[in-house]
Order: sequence, then structure tokens, then C-alpha cells
Amino acid sequence: MKISFDKISATPKSFNLALNDVVFSGALSKIDFNTVKLNGELKGDMEVCCDRCGIVFKTAIEQPLNLELSQKIGQNKDNLDIIEFLNGTIDLEYILQSEIDSIRSSYYYCQKCDGIEEFEVEI
Ligand SMILES: [Zn+2]
Repeated sequence: MKISFDKISATPKSFNLALNDVVFSGALSKIDFNTVKLNGELKGDMEVCCDRCGIVFKTAIEQPLNLELSQKIGQNKDNLDIIEFLNGTIDLEYILQSEIDSIRSSYYYCQKCDGIEEFEVEI
């Protein structure tokens, strides 16, 4: 799902897309000529890998995603929540895919391993 910067105004424009079992929904609105604000959330089930035993299992995710999208290079270099789309087109699939990749790269324990850890703490 690609949206041109030119088509977004100050009035929030809603969007909704899905990748596998994860739904990405929210709204886009323009802050200034080169900047668009994204207020959204990711919700659904995602396959992750247990960091202890390596088993693949599904986990429910639900997290807000608030970003600024810019079509101008080098704006707010200190702001990590800014994504540049220099061709003037916002690619929502790209945003969703990179968020899923970053969620997947954190640590997960399956139900079984989660229990083991608690047990060790009690001892
Ligand atoms: Zn495990």
C-alpha cells in the first residue's frame, strides 16, 4: 500500500493493511509540507522463535506505532522515530515489514521455557 505525500492533508486519512496475521491500522496526517505523522497500531498473531529451546510458536502482539514520515533528507537527525521516503511516496508495507522484523528480533520464551525461568528464580 503506497500513498503519495501530496494526497495527505491535515485531516487524518485512515489506512488498514495486513501481513500474514498482523494487522496494521491507523491514520496519516500532514504536519507540514514535507512531514506526515503516522498514528497507528500493530495487532495480531506473530510467529516467533523461543530464545531458549528454538521452538517456533505464535504470540499475540498489540502495540502502538507512532512515527513521523519525511520526504526531505536530514530532517531531525536526532529523532529515531522518523522515516524518510525521499521519492515522495509512503510505503506502508515497508513500515509494517520493518516493524515486524524488529519485533521478531527481540527475545521470546515459549510457555514451557518461561515456566522454567520462574522456577529457577524461586530456588
Ligand atoms: Zn522454549
